[in-house]
Amino acid sequence: MAKSEKRVKITLECTECKERNYITMKSKVNDRERLEMKKYCARDRRHTNHKETR
Ligand SMILES: [Zn+2]
Repeated sequence: MAKSEKRVKITLECTECKERNYITMKSKVNDRERLEMKKYCARDRRHTNHKETR
């Protein structure tokens, strides 16, 4: 099974300060919508929502 084919690199951006804090991978097949998750933001010094950028 070819794992790498359907995986894409995405950047997660803090929705509060717009800092790009994380680079991660996601599956194109399973996550067709914009990814959003709670992550720690060093700038805000707390957990904020991070959204996938394009
Ligand atoms: Zn932030």
